[in-house]
Amino acid sequence: MGSDHHHHIVMLPFMALGHLIPFLELAKQIKQRTTGFTITIASTSLNIQYLQSTISSSSSISSSSGESTIDFAVLPFNSSDYALPPNTENTENVPLTEIGEFFSASLNLEAPVRKLIADITAREGTAPLCIISDPFFGWATNVAESLNTVNITFTTGGAYGTLAYISLWLHLPHFHTDSEEFTVLGFPERCRFHRSQLHPFMRAANGKDLWSRFFQPQISLSLKSSGWLTNTAEEIEPFGMEIFRNYIKLPLWSIGPLLPQSALKKSSSTSGSSISTQRTGKKLGIPAEECFQWLNLQRPNSVLYISFGSQNTIRATQMMELAKGLEKSEKNFIWVIRPPLGFDIKGEFRSEWLPEGFEERVRGNKQGLVVRNWAPQLEILSHESTGAFLSHCGWNSVVESLSQGVPIMGWPMAAEQSYNSKMLMEEMGVSVELTRGVQNEIVGEKVKELIEMVMDENGKGGEMRKKAGEIREKIRAAVRYEGNEAGSSVKAMDDFLNYVLENRQERESKIQV
Ligand code: UDP
Repeated sequence: MGSDHHHHIVMLPFMALGHLIPFLELAKQIKQRTTGFTITIASTSLNIQYLQSTISSSSSISSSSGESTIDFAVLPFNSSDYALPPNTENTENVPLTEIGEFFSASLNLEAPVRKLIADITAREGTAPLCIISDPFFGWATNVAESLNTVNITFTTGGAYGTLAYISLWLHLPHFHTDSEEFTVLGFPERCRFHRSQLHPFMRAANGKDLWSRFFQPQISLSLKSSGWLTNTAEEIEPFGMEIFRNYIKLPLWSIGPLLPQSALKKSSSTSGSSISTQRTGKKLGIPAEECFQWLNLQRPNSVLYISFGSQNTIRATQMMELAKGLEKSEKNFIWVIRPPLGFDIKGEFRSEWLPEGFEERVRGNKQGLVVRNWAPQLEILSHESTGAFLSHCGWNSVVESLSQGVPIMGWPMAAEQSYNSKMLMEEMGVSVELTRGVQNEIVGEKVKELIEMVMDENGKGGEMRKKAGEIREKIRAAVRYEGNEAGSSVKAMDDFLNYVLENRQERESKIQV
């Protein structure tokens, strides 16, 4: 996509890894498809450092003259002013908890973002083409309006999960009913939701708590933006897209799933080397090579990969039962393990959290690998030996798994993960849930039974794998970018870019009149 004059897009990802990664992928794809664009990703210092370290290891980002470029702008992380709207009905002071500080800091980004947009406008003689912001930065809609640009909301989640999440926050249906089950505005009657699918802070939400007072206004403002981008594809979520579109009543472009090109080329690989292990910029507990050497020795589809994303961990008692169930199942596994809840998640791991001798035993008899803290997830999922994924159902994990045709064993924990899990089971048929949340105990024997069922080539496990394989093909078709054969997500990206370019022309012609 060419351009007559310089175009600037400012991106505002929420400060969490699961949001930063798709925003960066979005920036890379816009860069790849345009000339003469500057894409500035603005975030706090630590997040920018992380993005820069990821990008510097990727050759695709270097730019020659005329090509679009990706820039970074550092915003101050300032939680000193408690900026949440006051709780008018409850005059008790809300304690300035860590989460309150985080919410406060994300609201306080508005002022430096205003300055950033004003500086760009002064320097370039024209306002940025658009601001692409996270749904939790609803204030960006006000910024865009007052500074003569447009705001587009980008949900890094899928259509179904995002709709459930925003609609639940805005309507809190569980609060108005004694029933354990309820319907959610925007969803048909058949999609009943259950209280156990709500994170404890949402279960307790009544509109006056800290969480509601942050999410409700931010989401409401995001629904006043000019349109939404979603990290999914029309083909894999036709139902989700339909209900999401009906609900937001705004232009909606499904431009995903945003995954590195290398992850989408082959249908399976025998080594992870085709995908950059640097993508996530984090260090692996054991050398990546050892992971792949071990995977290379396993049979196709025989390994269960276990990871709960970038932020979550489970309780010590659950860890113990999961280990017992794994060992009893005798199935191969790679388990990304972190200290349990109640301990420093980045701290030392204690062997007492696992059955005695577990790690040595499974390594010795070649049943499995226990990886500390972090593993090259996408590379592991794309290895042909990987047969299923025990996942917290974070959206990135979901699309990474499905893009490789790997079925899921769900253990949703927070955010919109329960709704992703519900969709994976009810609409896609590619998942079964082990449990949900971190409150419930799990039992080793049941874990073993479910692992056996999922890893079984016949029966339900085989069916799930077949369906996941079909979704993998749909994902590949949606993101295909070859001449006239552009997939639906590629076309949606072009439609989106045309929309903001035309929108700018309209704004400029109004100013001239
Ligand atoms: N991830 C990884 N290695 C790990 C854990 C996570 O590479 O050991 C990556 C994973 O591939 C995904 C992201 O971190 O891209 C996690 O995002 P997701 O949306 O699944 O969950 P969140 O971290 O937001 O809860």
